[in-house]
Amino acid sequence: MKQVAEFFKKLFDYSDWPPRWHCGKWSEFHGWLYIISDLAVWSAYFAIPFIIIRYISKRHDARFIRLYFLFAGFILACGATHFFDAVTFWYPIYRVNALVRAITGILSWTTVFYIIKVLPVAFTLRTSADLEAEVEQRKKAEEKFRNLLELAPDSIVIMNAAWDIQLVNAQAVNMFGYTHSEMTGKRVCMLMPLDFVDVKQLQTPGNRITIREELMGTRKDGTQFPVEISLAPLVTEEGLLMAAAIRDISEKKLLEKTIRDANITLEKKVQQRTAELERKNKELEQFAYVASHDLQEPLQTTSGFVQLLHKKYHGRLDDTADQYIDYVVQASGRMKTLIKDLLDYSRIGRGNQSRQVDCNLLLKEVLADLHTMIAENEVVIEAGRLPVLSSAYPTELKSLFQNLVSNSIKFRKPNITPVIHIEAFQTNGYWQFSVHDNGIGIEDQYQERIFIIFQRLHNRSTYEGSGIGLAHCKKIAELHGGKIWVQSEPGAGSTFYFTIAETSGNHLSQ
Ligand code: ADP
Repeated sequence: MKQVAEFFKKLFDYSDWPPRWHCGKWSEFHGWLYIISDLAVWSAYFAIPFIIIRYISKRHDARFIRLYFLFAGFILACGATHFFDAVTFWYPIYRVNALVRAITGILSWTTVFYIIKVLPVAFTLRTSADLEAEVEQRKKAEEKFRNLLELAPDSIVIMNAAWDIQLVNAQAVNMFGYTHSEMTGKRVCMLMPLDFVDVKQLQTPGNRITIREELMGTRKDGTQFPVEISLAPLVTEEGLLMAAAIRDISEKKLLEKTIRDANITLEKKVQQRTAELERKNKELEQFAYVASHDLQEPLQTTSGFVQLLHKKYHGRLDDTADQYIDYVVQASGRMKTLIKDLLDYSRIGRGNQSRQVDCNLLLKEVLADLHTMIAENEVVIEAGRLPVLSSAYPTELKSLFQNLVSNSIKFRKPNITPVIHIEAFQTNGYWQFSVHDNGIGIEDQYQERIFIIFQRLHNRSTYEGSGIGLAHCKKIAELHGGKIWVQSEPGAGSTFYFTIAETSGNHLSQ
């Protein structure tokens, strides 16, 4: 320890030795050859680290930086030993010399160990031939990719995650009117506003976003056109890229518009026709009303005089005359009924006011009116709870129930107790009523025809009637915003359904 302390204390003290020049016999030539050679080696060793460091500072991608610095230090230290060797010719600072050598030794071995550690890694690095082959391979792959892009039927634009255009195909050039170079490197916003899409959604390979909402593409000349875009991620070595397949949907939109316009025109035409039909219907109704009304008077006269004729001259003329007069009396009676029915039919809804109607009370009145018919036929009536309608035509509604109930009795099955079940329930903004019987039923093919005015399935001798009752019911249901239909099985019975549009106040009675 004492020696070490002494060593550093006298580090620059050279009184213990004579200058090297005076040790032994140096000729001028020998001495200077030694000195100049040492200085030449030192200066060369000194220059090498600077060249290395300069090189590294320019190469940002340089690897093994620590090795370069270690190597530079090692060379610098080796050079220093030569420098101090030359200096000792005049100043024998052997202690400094020894120290420099010791440092050089340490640096040399550190470098050796570091080289042992780094060399295997360095040998795994690709050679320039490998790199060239890889570049070639990449070029080919890129070429293939470009060819594929050109084959795609859609315009394709490839962008990086910052929405900068990287690649476009010829279809995109045609679509947008820019050249390849005018688009490459530019923001995609110049073509279409895509940057509202969340890039994160595209980070999973296989994810796809299709944008069908109103998105407009902009051409170089500033004109705009509707587009449909499908975005898909491309995971590459350079990071996430996005491929947008763009389709010009101008024609599709035009077609949609044409269809929409055609629909509107069609709707208008239907409305016009409906209005026309309604007007004609009204005219017909008016005609039926006027005709039946005006016919009543001459019919009344004819029928009155025929009856007078029958009363006064029956038995005073011959048998044939009596028979003819009977026929005329019967026919004019039938005609009276028909004209009255027709008049009633054309009067439905005319001038009457709608008001609140409790269907339970209404049904009670109907059953009371039909009391004799019900009692004679021992009819069983089952009625559920019916609604109170806030707005309905009571006279017409009563006639509807009356027609259905009396038909159920009229068309009963012989030798079976007629059972009539009446109920109602709410469905989709309507009250749906049903009148079910266990009568003779109606065959499938007649189930629509029976609602047409004067259509009957039986002749008068089998069942009485004029064939206007169900036409009445149909008109009354329609007057209430509803409809009427029947479900029936011949021999098993029929169920007549009718609906009444529900207004806010209609409710079931307590
Ligand atoms: P009408 O009762 O005067 O014949 P409608 O218009 O009331 O006229 O009925 C038309 C036809 O529908 C009837 O002739 C009958 O054949 C059939 N029909 C109506 N109601 C029923 C019923 N409940 N059961 C079986 N058939 C019926």
